[in-house]
Amino acid sequence: MFFKIAHCPEFALPLPDGHRFPMAKYELLPKKLIADGIATPEQFFTPKMASVDEILTTHTVEYWHALDNLTLSPKDCRKIGLPMSKSLIDRERLVVGATIECANYALTDGISLSTSGGTHHAFADSGEGFCILNDICVASNVLLKEGLAKRILILDLDVHQGNGNASIMADNANVFVMSMHGEKNYPYHKPKSDLDIGLADGVGDDEYLSLLKYHLPKVLDDFNPDFVFYQAGVDVLADDRLGRINLTMDGLYERERYVVETMFNRQIPMAVTMGGGYAPDIDVIVQGHSVVFGVVGIF
Ligand SMILES: [Zn+2]
Repeated sequence: MFFKIAHCPEFALPLPDGHRFPMAKYELLPKKLIADGIATPEQFFTPKMASVDEILTTHTVEYWHALDNLTLSPKDCRKIGLPMSKSLIDRERLVVGATIECANYALTDGISLSTSGGTHHAFADSGEGFCILNDICVASNVLLKEGLAKRILILDLDVHQGNGNASIMADNANVFVMSMHGEKNYPYHKPKSDLDIGLADGVGDDEYLSLLKYHLPKVLDDFNPDFVFYQAGVDVLADDRLGRINLTMDGLYERERYVVETMFNRQIPMAVTMGGGYAPDIDVIVQGHSVVFGVVGIF
């Protein structure tokens, strides 16, 4: 299946030496996709920054002004965990813009993927956990506002619960948030999603995949979405420093294959974002992220 990929060099914003966020993965992932023959350069497009109007479909004016003017309090900046700068805010706008454009491409091509995104810890009025603006929630609200989708499923398989998604979409009957995550992992306060599946520490491939294959079809049957955003975090891998879940690379492959095949068979357009990935070896993170791109190429 032909698919477009959102990417730009600005996704890999340089961070101070020794910073714990693996920013280099955003530079390495597109290179790996081409080197491995998973994608060709023609599939990549350069996203536009999300407009202020788009951002304000989801975020409060006060929060956006604090970001735009770099006046967020030191405490609020610490919660985010990234050094604030004009170029960081521009990067976040590109990340959100990429997810919006992927959604639009998915409506024509069936699927589209961003090499970034999945910033599911961003709330309407604050950020945390390396997330500043909530790309999937903004893109969902833009699709709904433009009448391009009526019932959206946010499928969040990052190992951390999408507390920002749950909070932002709590009262939105047109958006169903399904999150499968480590129950004992961050965030320790988990606002309720429409469906939260909390996993015990150490869950492996079999249990993980059987839970996914039990719940996802039920959600699709009951909610009947006409669009899906998939947050494909790879911090579920056993090697992950923050994950506490033990998926093998084969288990991850089966997760991605199952999700892509399910939406393909049901003909539900899907925009895919990345998410967490904190293995000590950055090649493992990049390999993990590349899996979903490789799977899409099969269909
Ligand atoms: Zn995560």
